[in-house]
Amino acid sequence: MSRKIVVIPGDGIGSEITDSAVAVLKKVSEKYNLDLEFETHPAGGTAYDLCGTPLPDETLNAAKAADAVLFGAVGGPKWDNVDPALRPEKAVLGLRKGLGLYANLRPVKVADALVEYSPLKEDIVKGTDILIVRELIGGIYFGDKCESEIHNGAERAWDLENYSVPEVERIVKFAMEAAKKRRNKVTSVDKSNVLATSRLWRRTTAKVAENYPEVALDNLYVDNCAMQLAINPSQFDVIVTGNLFGDILSDEAAVLSGSIGMLPSASIGFSTSLYEPIHGSAPDIAGKGIANPVATILSAAMLLRYSLNEDKAADDIEQAVDKALAQGYRTLDLYKEGFKKADTKTMTEAILNNID
Ligand code: ATP
Ligand code: MG
Repeated sequence: MSRKIVVIPGDGIGSEITDSAVAVLKKVSEKYNLDLEFETHPAGGTAYDLCGTPLPDETLNAAKAADAVLFGAVGGPKWDNVDPALRPEKAVLGLRKGLGLYANLRPVKVADALVEYSPLKEDIVKGTDILIVRELIGGIYFGDKCESEIHNGAERAWDLENYSVPEVERIVKFAMEAAKKRRNKVTSVDKSNVLATSRLWRRTTAKVAENYPEVALDNLYVDNCAMQLAINPSQFDVIVTGNLFGDILSDEAAVLSGSIGMLPSASIGFSTSLYEPIHGSAPDIAGKGIANPVATILSAAMLLRYSLNEDKAADDIEQAVDKALAQGYRTLDLYKEGFKKADTKTMTEAILNNID
């Protein structure tokens, strides 16, 4: 039975990088007989120009009906003056809500060929291969809020964090399953010396872990984790944490690799999941054919792994990317003298040639 992938290129470099990723998906699909079907839909500023809304119903409904969504990026200066409710970025929020995307996955793998781009010393960052699993639809971002209240003459505001046992169970189970496909280690990050939500988080995590005797569970306070990421990042396999801590730690971890054009992400939904690069639509280089397609190609590998259970095809793509880098291909964002200067097409072809 064929499996449908909805492709949402979006704006800026979105169509260039999703084209590359689709070409790579087609190549592994042929190799492994995956029977993939692709359908393209607009979102973001492009959709606003076409239909007056950044997320047309047709696009959302197609995404809901798909086996997975491959997303490029949205936004750009062209839409700076659009009504805030209709801004391109609203497409992402609409998809997150519409698909119930409850877990955000951000792998940070520092390829051997690229250790020199890291802000950390080579011997510290070498071998870093982390998967951050961030809870995405609960916690302080979605708790009760008070924007403004006058109390004893002073204005105050508050945000209430809350987590339920099922919410924590769901995300920790996901992290445990992911660890089983990796190196069998989960670090759960909280602030249980101070926060009640974190104490519930830690208790629940320990309970879930009982069902995964093969996975080693470690607990860290968030402040310590932030420090460990900077001094010894290669100790981590899977990190699982709540919405706020995950937001901060995933950006901290992202800079370890030193190259925004390399990092993929997945947002896992109850039925359909969405895969996209962590970078934006890069309007400054859009249309020039020079964008680095690797983050989107690695997002496609995650799609195969997490939505279609095609781990071998995903491994092939990741290895093909590593090989292309080892062969010296560099897009402009990473180019240095002595390497092979590659535009989007050349980089994509180098990767395709490494999938046999
Ligand atoms: P957003 O708000 O959508 O995140 P942004 O301007 O903050 O947008 P990006 O669109 O990611 O961030 O661009 C930041 C810089 O990184 C730009 O100079 C852009 O050209 C560069 N960049 C981003 N993605 C890529 C890529 N895939 N290849 C090469 N350069 C990139
Ligand atoms: Mg940005």
